[in-house]
Amino acid sequence: MIHRYRPIIPLAGAGQPPGCPLSFPIFPSYRRFLSKWKGLFIKLKAIMHTPAATRYDSPNFYRRCGRSGVRLPLISLGLWHNFGGQDSYENARAIACRAFDLGITHFDLANNYGPPAGSAEESFGRILREDLGRWRDELIISTKAGYDMWPGPYGDWGSRKYLLASLDQSLQRMGLAYVDIFYSHRPDPETPLEETMGALAHAVRSGKALYAGLSNYKPAETARAAKILRDLGTPCLIHQPRYSMLDRWVEPQLLATLEAEGIGGIVFSPLAKGILTDRYFKGIPADSRAGHDKRFLRPADITDAVLTKTKKLNDLAQSRGQTLAQLALAWVLRHKTVTSALIGASKMSQVDDCVGATRNLNFTGEELARIEKILAE
Ligand code: NDP
Repeated sequence: MIHRYRPIIPLAGAGQPPGCPLSFPIFPSYRRFLSKWKGLFIKLKAIMHTPAATRYDSPNFYRRCGRSGVRLPLISLGLWHNFGGQDSYENARAIACRAFDLGITHFDLANNYGPPAGSAEESFGRILREDLGRWRDELIISTKAGYDMWPGPYGDWGSRKYLLASLDQSLQRMGLAYVDIFYSHRPDPETPLEETMGALAHAVRSGKALYAGLSNYKPAETARAAKILRDLGTPCLIHQPRYSMLDRWVEPQLLATLEAEGIGGIVFSPLAKGILTDRYFKGIPADSRAGHDKRFLRPADITDAVLTKTKKLNDLAQSRGQTLAQLALAWVLRHKTVTSALIGASKMSQVDDCVGATRNLNFTGEELARIEKILAE
């Protein structure tokens, strides 16, 4: 195997610097320099993560993304939380490496993930540099632009100016030559769709992204955007909407639009940010999202009514031999249009648990009816 990060050390002439006469006066210190680098390299190799040889043992773990050539893992890892500059780098690294060991090839980022904005891409860049970058061709890495990123009129929404500048910044933070998927993070009501889609198509044609994606676009906007992208010769690969048992806005129309357009769906927050797990059954743990980072999940969101539902769903999950998180993931993946469930994780063990969902993706009619009844109560 070729190690991309193996430093090229000139060893010709028994440690002699190339082109130097034997009497070169700094020769001894050069030898010391060489052995220091060699030692550092050996240390680096020892701590660099070696991915599990078993990571592709489950071929059914991958589903085709729409009508494209790409297959994505049923469970993908998002870096919105727990990968920022204020989070433990060692924990972030452990989660990402564990995910890859389990066959998770897709890592989802955005320019603004952190906090501070941009720091999740920086952390992931370091993970790539120090651990996973040697397997770049086995990875699908996505990023997005669309939300507030820098001050002034060009750091938000959907202009060509913002999207392309942001992509350059993302590539720099991650130390990448290209991302696999570049998304418009949200539709911009004030920028012509042709301009935003033109920027995505340009990103693909320039080689800085391999595929274009949409996130948070409504069904009609999605169909229009897909046509523009198709006409530009850079078809839309994927759509990233929110979807879980507690938020079903995609069901009436968006999933059918994706099917008709041949676009894959990757659904975010399938665990409703942790509510659809056993995380809050005994109160609000200090290390949970609602416990320590209340920006997007407030303790007030964990109501008694919600807990009553999730505990009933948990009983049903147990009757299927699953955890509640596994039930929630299997449930979103019951649609074939849903290529992947995009989870977040604060611990390695959560990734293991979530991947375990794929051992049982089938539901009986009776189980589905019981879920509907619980959700409607
Ligand atoms: P989830 O709904 O999967 O919530 C993740 C949280 O659930 C974790 O942080 C953890 O909470 C808890 N959890 C995960 N697995 C388990 C488990 N097995 N048992 C118990 N608890 C568990 O998704 P996110 O809301 O984190 O979103 C996922 C990704 O989606 C993001 O990282 C991002 O990539 C993408 N996203 C995209 C958006 C867009 O606009 N396009 C918007 C939002 C997200 P805890 O931290 O409390 O332990």
